[in-house]
Amino acid sequence: MMRRHGAVVGMVVLLAVLPLFAPAFWVTLANYIGLYSMTALGLVLLTGVAGQTSFGQAAFVGIGAYVTAYLTTRHALSPWLTLAIGLACTGVVALFLGFITLRMRGHYLPLATIAWGISLYYVFGNLEALGGHTGLSGIAPLTLAGVALKDERRYYYLIWFVTLAALWATHNLLDSRSGRAVRALKGGLDMIEAFGVDAARLKIVVFVYAALLACVSGWLYAHLQRFVNPTPFGINQGIEYLFMAVVGGAGSVWGAVVGASLITLLKEWLQDLLPALLGRQGNFELVVFGILMVLILQFARDGVWQWIARVLPHPAPHPVVAAPPLAPRARTAPAGPLLEVQQVTKRFGGLVAVDDLSFVVTPGEIVGLIGPNGAGKSTTFALISGALPLTAGRVLLGGESIGSKPPHEIARRGLGRTFQHVKLIGTMSVLDNVAIGAYLRGRSGVVRAALKLDRAEEAQVRAEAARAVARVGLSAQLHTAAGSLALGQQRIVEIARALASDPTLLLLDEPAAGLRFLEKQALATLLRSLKAEGMTILLVEHDMDFVMGLTDRLVVMDFGLKLAEGSPVEIQRNAAVREAYLGGVA
Ligand code: ADP
Ligand code: MG
Repeated sequence: MMRRHGAVVGMVVLLAVLPLFAPAFWVTLANYIGLYSMTALGLVLLTGVAGQTSFGQAAFVGIGAYVTAYLTTRHALSPWLTLAIGLACTGVVALFLGFITLRMRGHYLPLATIAWGISLYYVFGNLEALGGHTGLSGIAPLTLAGVALKDERRYYYLIWFVTLAALWATHNLLDSRSGRAVRALKGGLDMIEAFGVDAARLKIVVFVYAALLACVSGWLYAHLQRFVNPTPFGINQGIEYLFMAVVGGAGSVWGAVVGASLITLLKEWLQDLLPALLGRQGNFELVVFGILMVLILQFARDGVWQWIARVLPHPAPHPVVAAPPLAPRARTAPAGPLLEVQQVTKRFGGLVAVDDLSFVVTPGEIVGLIGPNGAGKSTTFALISGALPLTAGRVLLGGESIGSKPPHEIARRGLGRTFQHVKLIGTMSVLDNVAIGAYLRGRSGVVRAALKLDRAEEAQVRAEAARAVARVGLSAQLHTAAGSLALGQQRIVEIARALASDPTLLLLDEPAAGLRFLEKQALATLLRSLKAEGMTILLVEHDMDFVMGLTDRLVVMDFGLKLAEGSPVEIQRNAAVREAYLGGVA
């Protein structure tokens, strides 16, 4: 940890002294690298971490640059005021574009970003007021505390101060309540939505954040260059920013700086080298540059940062510190049943996966949902938790109809769940995965996280997550990457994550699958102790011995229909059940 810090401090010191001895040309390059890093940083978050590909970031840089260029030259506004106006404009445009485009999946999103990247470029070029394709010149230099930052060496300090601040804020953001959710976006929306994250909203927040970084970069660019035209804000530059983020690598915020440096220096070097080598002028550097990009993408999928990180000392995991417990979630304490499934039907085309199913779960019960493979048990869970829409029927939680609500709304009402097909983020530690479960128990938003004002709450969340991990007996694996655990243990991590949400109703889909005998016994003990604390549990299970000893009541499904319902002993005696299910297994 200290040694990793040492590397960062060393780099900051190097940045601080660079302009004192470096030739002017290097300072200019470093200025551009700083500006590019800021935009690439937004893309590391948006594309690298959150998985939303954008070719259109250059347009947001353009908004930042043009707003200040226009308002300072034509209306003599202060550049500091135009920064605020630029951020507001960018925020509004990004919100609007985000609302429309982030719903798109697959290749539609990148195509949409190309479309707006191109159209904003032509807006800049065709507006008479913005100087058309010639652009706007005579932009005043920035003044800071009475000093005009005309000199590139002075401007360098401003650029790198802002860049490092953006790196710091983004690093903080990734290591927070919202950041964990952003890192989990790539693992599919079902999981984070099940823990109360409004994924659509979160994607837009990340999109706006990335756009605002680009806007600040554009504002700094305009006052550095003191002249703007549409060229640097077109789709070519948008593609280059994406290259920077991908080539640098999404593993760390430093990937943005590495990518921006690498691409800027490489282009510069090729521009000098190739004409000398070939003995003639021409844009050869673009050809070679393209080939190099293909090679880097081929051999360093996760970016060049990965290689650098391997050489640097490994950071030790943050220790979990003692912290006061998080407040328990408000409980819905219904007089009647906690969960009511009423004549629920789910059709997939011609297949009726769940057919007119009704049952109730009363508070404090452990109810088992059993049945042969394909009976419709997991689908029933998906209907209860909102992951799938109902075809017909009603689901009530604590007396309130939740049948048409999205999963994150249902999670808010106290439902915690695990998935039959484990949905953990393999590269994140067990602790971080489980902390996602506590999402609804925290409050801190993106701004608090970026400014590191969330540390007290974060310590509570981590302590709570560590307690949930201890509860399921995996403390020794707290800092292990979840993906490196055995599948049975991953299921147990899923239970810890659901427990961290402090649910009123816990849905477990085949929790004992893949566990060894002793592990199953430990799991049964855990579930019994949860029941003793008043937890209500609905579980799907295949292992008959496991459910027989554990559950208060069983609901048996076959071909989507409810076949029988009763105590484990009654079910064991039931002839129809034996025929359809037990007989087949025994
Ligand atoms: P169980 O969990 O009881 O083994 P499922 O609920 O997973 O069964 O599946 C019930 C039936 O619905 C199966 O025939 C399955 O193939 C089908 N099914 C489940 N999910 C889908 C889906 N998303 N699209 C189409 N068919 C599905
Ligand atoms: Mg299933």
